[in-house]
Amino acid sequence: MDNPTLVRTRIAPSPTGELHIGGLRTLLYDYALARKYKGQFILRIEDTDQKRFIPGSQERIMQVIKDYNLSWDEGPDIGGSYGPYIQTERLDIYKKYIQILLNKGLAYYCFCTQERLNNLREEQRSQKKLPKYDQHCLHLSKEEIQKNLDSKVSYTIRMVIPKNETVVFEDLIRGKIKFNTNDIDDQVLIKSNGIPTYHFAVVVDDQLMNITHVLRAEEWLSSTPKHVLLYKYFGWDMPKTAHLTVLLDPDHKGKMSKRHGSVHARIFLENGYLPEAVLNFLMLLGWNPGTEQEIFTLSDFVKQFSIEKLNKKAPAFDRKKLDYINGVYIRQKTDSELVELLKPFIPEVSFEILMQIIPLIKERITTLKDAANLTKFLFEDVSYDKTLLLQKNITPELAHDMLNKTKELILNLKTFDFLTLQTNLLDQIKSNNWNTGQFFMVFRVAICGSVSTPPVVDCLPIIGKEATLRKINLAIDLLN
Ligand code: GLU
Repeated sequence: MDNPTLVRTRIAPSPTGELHIGGLRTLLYDYALARKYKGQFILRIEDTDQKRFIPGSQERIMQVIKDYNLSWDEGPDIGGSYGPYIQTERLDIYKKYIQILLNKGLAYYCFCTQERLNNLREEQRSQKKLPKYDQHCLHLSKEEIQKNLDSKVSYTIRMVIPKNETVVFEDLIRGKIKFNTNDIDDQVLIKSNGIPTYHFAVVVDDQLMNITHVLRAEEWLSSTPKHVLLYKYFGWDMPKTAHLTVLLDPDHKGKMSKRHGSVHARIFLENGYLPEAVLNFLMLLGWNPGTEQEIFTLSDFVKQFSIEKLNKKAPAFDRKKLDYINGVYIRQKTDSELVELLKPFIPEVSFEILMQIIPLIKERITTLKDAANLTKFLFEDVSYDKTLLLQKNITPELAHDMLNKTKELILNLKTFDFLTLQTNLLDQIKSNNWNTGQFFMVFRVAICGSVSTPPVVDCLPIIGKEATLRKINLAIDLLN
């Protein structure tokens, strides 16, 4: 792409639910394009589908974008020179523009009842024809139209689709795309409730908001010929448009769906992924930097982003890669930064204790949520299977002996710090001629309730003497 002088991109979510992780990727790319060319990134709410409207959804979508530390330059909350930014607040605008098409004969009133449309569709289906409006109302006389309007017959307004023409448009990712107009229905532009459909509102708004580039999801590709025609009807230039690939589910055929795990942008944060790690992961899902570099800050990405590097091939949403990237970001944090991040996940633990825990787990956690699971045993007794105590050829008698002697040892300790514990435990192993690996296996399970844990002796001062003794007693009881 040559250096454009003006770049205005937008994200146009519908308040029909949560922001999808794929929607966040689209947003990120639109955001990067605007930022790269020092343009504007706009948030517009497309709420014309009142049937699917979910109260609170708009606020949640806006909040989750902020939670990912992204921002917009114009939008419903902050306004801008091209507002309003909510489509149902723009109905007068659409009225004005539909009138232009009506006057030009490029849109027409349709008074067909739902019943007639249903019958038509049934008939076409039975004849194995493409379900399409038959243009019945396109041929109504001026008088008939006026009579219907005067007697307040319910109507929609449809766009005229010419017969057997080729609509061509240049997708920035996919190249030239051609459609035959015979495959396109006379799309309803204004519904019977006076509210526009997506197709009409999106074209009018992108034009009036001076949007220069549209990067949107592949699912809108088939709608594009209608938009191309609408731009032509108005005599407007269409924004440069690219349709991003879908995200594939690596474990199941087809695209990612909520049937197989989380797909909402918010869930990833709730599950302990860092916003910058998720964004970094999304950067690589459809955009190829052309180098081996994998870790990108947002400003790196903005600098390097270009439409030419967007992939044609749909990427797989590889959660293992996301885990890896999240781990990298977690380990880049200082201990005190991590404390702040962990707070919501382990709310009952104090700052001081968290500072002690972090060095023990920092290298081991993939998500912030892991920290809660990994440290649960520090604050409560966790249940586990007796067989865990008896691995590495350890007999019940040996485990018993190890635990009983350790209990005595700890009971007699005057101080309960790491060094005292470590020295005394190692002395005890030596004087009893135990195998070090075997001892720590039994001891680790008794204290932590599992085999993969932070270094067990480091954990003891955090657990405290009393709770340590209680855990040993519980393990002894389990063996009995
Ligand atoms: N409102 C559409 C959506 O929910 C926007 C599609 C577009 O970007 O044109 O995704």
